[in-house]
Amino acid sequence: MLEIRPNCELCDVDLPANSTQARICSYECTYCADCVEQVLFNVCPTCGGGLVPRPIRPQRSWRAELNLGLANHPAGTKRRYSRFTREDIDQHVARIKDIPPEQR
Ligand SMILES: [Zn+2]
Ligand SMILES: [Zn+2]
Repeated sequence: MLEIRPNCELCDVDLPANSTQARICSYECTYCADCVEQVLFNVCPTCGGGLVPRPIRPQRSWRAELNLGLANHPAGTKRRYSRFTREDIDQHVARIKDIPPEQR
């Protein structure tokens, strides 16, 4: 199950579960759309993969027989922060950004 992280790991802006601004990599590293577009250029600072819009988990369980939705699987509360410095991230991004994600 996807871990819905509460913040951008770069600029720390809040990214609530229903945010349309959250972007994730395949490892669930989470960033805001502004950081992805203006700083990361579609490169995850950690794994180097691409970043896509995070799916929005519905608030309720829309099938009574299945215990799904945020009411049963709430968003995470542990704020995360990239372990890398901005200088390191910029170098990492410059190395990778011109390679399409499907070819990395
Ligand atoms: Zn951000
Ligand atoms: Zn990643």
